[in-house]
Amino acid sequence: MTIQRNELMKYLNDFLNIQNINDYCPNGLQVEGTQEIKKIVTGVTASQALIDAAIAVDADLLLVHHGYFWKGEAQPIVGLKRNRIKSLLVNDINLVGYHLPLDVHSSLGNNKQLGELLGLTQIEPITHISPSGVVYRGVLPTPMTANDFATHINSVLARTPLVEQTSEQLITHVAWCTGGGQGYLDAVVELGIDAFVSGEVSEQTIHNARENQIHFFAAGHHATERYGVKALGEHIQREFNVDVQFIDINNPA
Ligand SMILES: [Zn+2]
Repeated sequence: MTIQRNELMKYLNDFLNIQNINDYCPNGLQVEGTQEIKKIVTGVTASQALIDAAIAVDADLLLVHHGYFWKGEAQPIVGLKRNRIKSLLVNDINLVGYHLPLDVHSSLGNNKQLGELLGLTQIEPITHISPSGVVYRGVLPTPMTANDFATHINSVLARTPLVEQTSEQLITHVAWCTGGGQGYLDAVVELGIDAFVSGEVSEQTIHNARENQIHFFAAGHHATERYGVKALGEHIQREFNVDVQFIDINNPA
């Protein structure tokens, strides 16, 4: 099946509610390619490796979580930015990026998807943290030690987490923010949370975790953010009956 890019973009922009989410980058179509879409590749970051993989399978549209044109970055299209954009334009490939809208989405978002993968129950956004959906909470059906939870994360994400066990407390209540969300640990302190999961870690995260007695797990920015864009691709495949392929470019960070 073939779909028109304009039709797909209108659908996705509405579905992900981009009008109502303030972000650090443009969401939606970032680089324009062909109008007729027969093949979509999804992936976490629009790196040269992912673009090359998309070219190799004849993609018409590359859909990512981390696209281009971030607030504060240098604007000139030189160096690797030039190489990437040239590869897209020469091959007539559309680049479509959804950042925060794809973190917070209530069914396909990175946070919701990670909670489901980890087998948590009572999964819900912590609504007083803005934008709603940027931090989630849930419950482990069977309480676990910090070590067992780390093993569980590893088995789900195929990525060994950094673990800071801060007490002997078993883990029941978990809060999380995928990607670079370690700073949100401070926002869940009053909520009776036993463990906080994010992608990345900062030096001060460990002190904050220890002093608040919340176990902390950094499970990888890339590893925790594979699942939103993957789920969105599968959704597009079902809705529009178009060929969609998720390509994972390994990244230990
Ligand atoms: Zn991210």
